[in-house]
Amino acid sequence: MKPIRLDKYLADMGAGTRSEVKNFVRKGLIRVNGETVKSPELKVDADRDIVEYNGRCVGYADFEYYMLNKPAGCVSATRDNVSETVLELIVDKKRKDLFPAGRLDKDTEGLLFITNDGDLAHRLLSPRHHVEKTYFALIDGIVTEEDRALFKEGVDIGEKELTLPADLKILTSGIQSEIELTITEGKFHQVKRMFEAVGKTVTYLKRVSMGGIALDPGLRPGEYRKLTEEELEILR
Ligand code: URA
Repeated sequence: MKPIRLDKYLADMGAGTRSEVKNFVRKGLIRVNGETVKSPELKVDADRDIVEYNGRCVGYADFEYYMLNKPAGCVSATRDNVSETVLELIVDKKRKDLFPAGRLDKDTEGLLFITNDGDLAHRLLSPRHHVEKTYFALIDGIVTEEDRALFKEGVDIGEKELTLPADLKILTSGIQSEIELTITEGKFHQVKRMFEAVGKTVTYLKRVSMGGIALDPGLRPGEYRKLTEEELEILR
């Protein structure tokens, strides 16, 4: 990694603003490789140098990658004046430039990736890449084989084109049906609108996988963990 100015290094890692970091340096609170630092402009090698703030070692992370089980009630945004955001749930993040790679509706639960890696987000979200997303849903009413066939062909959700072929698995069918739907697009409210197109209502929606990565079953709504190197390899 290229050497980074100390004030940027510490500001990136959430120690404070760059001017606050300058103050910390003035107060002698910052050490690099055991030596108290005199200049916030000192260049540090994030791979080798040991940076301490107030006696605590501060490692540098260029990119961060999290898997969140989004709970209902919070919004897929970086800031919001009214509702809690998914970013507020990631309490031990280092980077300040994290964002959700994609959106789930406020009432939707499940898998959401949170990162500051714009290239990865683009790969996951670009309509040209047709990344698979699988949702579990509860549907009011009986989901039929006919619905399955219609979803395979594409349905009219009021866009210019029909939806791309989607794979509908009927898990149980009754007054309330349980289904799994895999789509390769990310149109606004897509799953809800696809069921509306066949005269049915989604009453609960949860994303269970995206881009070949399944939501970790150990994560309860609101919980998150870092993505593993193996998972990142699959996503890249
Ligand atoms: N489809 C929807 O209708 N809502 C979501 O949150 C995700 C997919």
